[in-house]
Amino acid sequence: MNIPSDISTVVEKMLCCTCGACAAICRQEAISYKETVGGHLFPVIDKVRCTACGLCYKVCPSVNVGTDLLNAIHTSPFEGTSLECHVGKAADSEVYLNSQSGGIVSALLLHLLETRKIEAAVVSAMAQGNPPRPVVLCAESKEQILSAQKSKYCPIPALEILREVRKRNLPVALVGLPCHFHGLSSIKDIDEALFQQVKYKIGLVCDRVMTYGAIDYLIKQSGLATQGTLNFDFRDKAHPQYPGNVVIGKPGKESTVLPDGTRNRIKNAFTPARCRICFDKMNILADITVCDPHGLKDIDRRNGESAVIVRTQKGRKSIREAVLGKHLHLRKADYNEITKGQKIERKRREWRGYVEAWRGLGMDLPAISAYLTGTTEYMPDDSYKKILKSCLALDAYASREILMASVDDLVKKSMFDKKNRDPFTSRIWQSLKMNIHRIKKAL
Ligand SMILES: Cc1cc2nc3c(=O)[nH]c(=O)nc-3n(C[C@H](O)[C@H](O)[C@H](O)COP(=O)(O)OP(=O)(O)OC[C@H]3O[C@@H](n4cnc5c(N)ncnc54)[C@H](O)[C@@H]3O)c2cc1C
Ligand code: SF4
Ligand code: SF4
Ligand code: SF4
Repeated sequence: MNIPSDISTVVEKMLCCTCGACAAICRQEAISYKETVGGHLFPVIDKVRCTACGLCYKVCPSVNVGTDLLNAIHTSPFEGTSLECHVGKAADSEVYLNSQSGGIVSALLLHLLETRKIEAAVVSAMAQGNPPRPVVLCAESKEQILSAQKSKYCPIPALEILREVRKRNLPVALVGLPCHFHGLSSIKDIDEALFQQVKYKIGLVCDRVMTYGAIDYLIKQSGLATQGTLNFDFRDKAHPQYPGNVVIGKPGKESTVLPDGTRNRIKNAFTPARCRICFDKMNILADITVCDPHGLKDIDRRNGESAVIVRTQKGRKSIREAVLGKHLHLRKADYNEITKGQKIERKRREWRGYVEAWRGLGMDLPAISAYLTGTTEYMPDDSYKKILKSCLALDAYASREILMASVDDLVKKSMFDKKNRDPFTSRIWQSLKMNIHRIKKAL
């Protein structure tokens, strides 16, 4: 059999989830990331540097399932195991108010740094720019941890920074999405020493990301596209309050807050196809998984809180010490309520639907799919194939501008098409109708 020597085929088959493992493992530093027309961020290989060693292909989690991941899916693939759960917030008000939800992730990182359990935290910040794009950094100070707060709902090859971690021999905590930890699990099988540099795995729950087309689209909506360097937040709970709206602005100037629901309205249009066939919403390989407290009772719904799922003994110890060190305020929570709030039953159903649709399109599936299909029930539904096809078509547009114009058309159409209207556009529709009614009355 002819085994591919590098990850080009993974990209061609739309199986790349932008984890960064291939760039981390490549000793020739031959792999970098490039945006596609549709806004994916895919690895490209510098053929001059590449020695065809095959390591990048071997480490890719879409091709080879890491041993840790394989072990983890035996118990409960869609939920993972939990030792205990909490809900709460960071004790430091600066950390809390600047955070996405409850600031638990950043408060925990600060605790680990202060107690010298780690020398740096691998975090992802949104850099100012034209357009703004995320950067991954080894944060070694409170200022850097704060600079990286809030969720970036876009692909980030976070594991690429393990090249720096290796060179500097840094013990780190890594904040990552489920696919980052799938990549890390594959790295463990090939380069155990590099894996061991990651002392703590702080996971985020992840339903999906949006391609970079979404950032550009939202900036266009703000009317600031021609204004040079911009700040960008997918969700800022200070505007107007938790969970927060998209906020865009020129540094040092007043920001523009996009209307309620704008981000969710374009989610489907910019979802990478690969996210549709990803099973691991709950980040089962993390020591600690953090998420929004959907479905939990008695939550601070104005300023936000985070739910915390403790999965390992190491995670449990760090959380307990962070509470004792007065970094975190936590209350007990129930894992069943957390998974219910995250709609894991629906995830299970939809995952199977998209996997069968992917297969139906004659495309190769990620290696892990073979281990999971037996754990789910298949309910045929043509809409999965339709949605997948639209995700797969993102890179078929002639330019980013044409893609954005087409999304704009879709959004407007769904506002006026009763059948396709989502909850947000329904709300706009209602307020439009009320305004028309008021104007008519005034006349
Ligand atoms: C792509 C994505 C999808 C998510 N989907 C869900 C969901 O479906 N349901 C849910 O309940 N919660 C989801 N979350 C998690 C939620 O949005 C919060 O991130 C989480 O509650 C932590 O909040 P916090 O206030 O403790 O974090 P903060 O203190 O604000 O810190 C956030 C940390 O996340 C890191 N980070 C941000 N974006 C990324 C990224 N793309 N990749 C790697 N690290 C990143 C930052 O570096 C920072 O360290 C998602 C997050 C992301 C990034
Ligand atoms: S085949 Fe080897 S040298 Fe070439 S890009 Fe992959 S890891 Fe790097
Ligand atoms: S290792 Fe990660 S970034 Fe590289 S091709 Fe595979 S999925 Fe993509
Ligand atoms: S849905 Fe899965 S593949 Fe997509 S970003 Fe989240 S963890 Fe990665």
